[in-house]
Amino acid sequence: MSTVHWVSARREDAPALLEAKALALWDAAGFSTLIQPNDLVAVKVTVGEPGNRTYLTPHVVKGLIREISLGGGRPFLTDTAPLGESARANAASHALVAHRHGFGLGALGAPFVAADGLSGLSEVAVPVRGRHFQEVRVAAAIHEADALLVVAHVTAHLGAGLSGVLKHLGMGCVSRRSKLLIHRAGTPSVVAARCVGCEVCVSSCPRSAVEMVDGRAWIDPERCGSCGDCVSLCRQGAISAPWEAHGEELQERMVEHAAGVVAAKRGRAAFIGVALDLVAECDCAGKRMMPLVEDIGLFAGWDPVAVDLAIQRMVRQRTGDTLERWAHRAGPALVQHRYASSLGMGSEEVELVEVAMR
Ligand code: SF4
Ligand code: SF4
Repeated sequence: MSTVHWVSARREDAPALLEAKALALWDAAGFSTLIQPNDLVAVKVTVGEPGNRTYLTPHVVKGLIREISLGGGRPFLTDTAPLGESARANAASHALVAHRHGFGLGALGAPFVAADGLSGLSEVAVPVRGRHFQEVRVAAAIHEADALLVVAHVTAHLGAGLSGVLKHLGMGCVSRRSKLLIHRAGTPSVVAARCVGCEVCVSSCPRSAVEMVDGRAWIDPERCGSCGDCVSLCRQGAISAPWEAHGEELQERMVEHAAGVVAAKRGRAAFIGVALDLVAECDCAGKRMMPLVEDIGLFAGWDPVAVDLAIQRMVRQRTGDTLERWAHRAGPALVQHRYASSLGMGSEEVELVEVAMR
């Protein structure tokens, strides 16, 4: 049995009230024990793709940053480069978007540091015992940090069903190469119209699989090892990989990466699920979306499985159905919680404790 604390909240709550509610949860969950003097504390957020209006509200994070600093820790805001075309494809662009969306040093009191380095390649291998992987690669800064606080904006998700704490760990805390492995990406291909012939992919391919043909890159499928380095390094976004894993398999692969992230933190990880703006796709979707169900509030605990399940169960209690079914009627069955529990990541038995605000 795992305890999850929660507090009712709405996106329209005044910024100071949201901040106060997050702090009340911090206290109730006993998160101050996460911090030791001079710790580097990774605060995992999603800063949102430009065009998205429902990304994690920074007001939830502001007081937490202050609390970590007061406890003697050195917090930094962090996230990793997404797969596919994005305005956050490299660390410089990612920091710029973070600043514009209110996740900068000036707004929150902590710097934004891309966890996976300049091009999404900085990673550290961690052993796991999964059905699909025996080793996963955690984003370097998250691996190196002394402690991790995940502040996950919860949404539905077309591929994984639900984007909660487990997805923020398994997809959001790993390198781009790992994301490709999670999606079981095959041989990448070059969009010739975008290729400017810089040959970065030619010189960086570990298998010499890229050639220049008529001034444009071409990837030999016989030699390519699907490592994904060229996808990360092409500044023009001209190389993309087909995604082959979907639904339940995708969730299992994602959860095994989440297990690697949690294992790397050796018990020094805490989790907050933000059930506001419960929309159909995660903060990486660069578009406006309408909430599917009413805002619920903020949830906190030391068990990522329990935090996600507590939110799922409350959505069902209030609406009669699950978030992913409200969003994608024909979406995948959710297996991520059960699989994570079977890997020892947490419990499916949840004690929910409401935190009252004075
Ligand atoms: S890195 Fe991109 S732009 Fe440069 S040659 Fe390769 S595909 Fe073309
Ligand atoms: S995916 Fe890896 S092996 Fe394949 S072409 Fe790109 S860099 Fe080379």
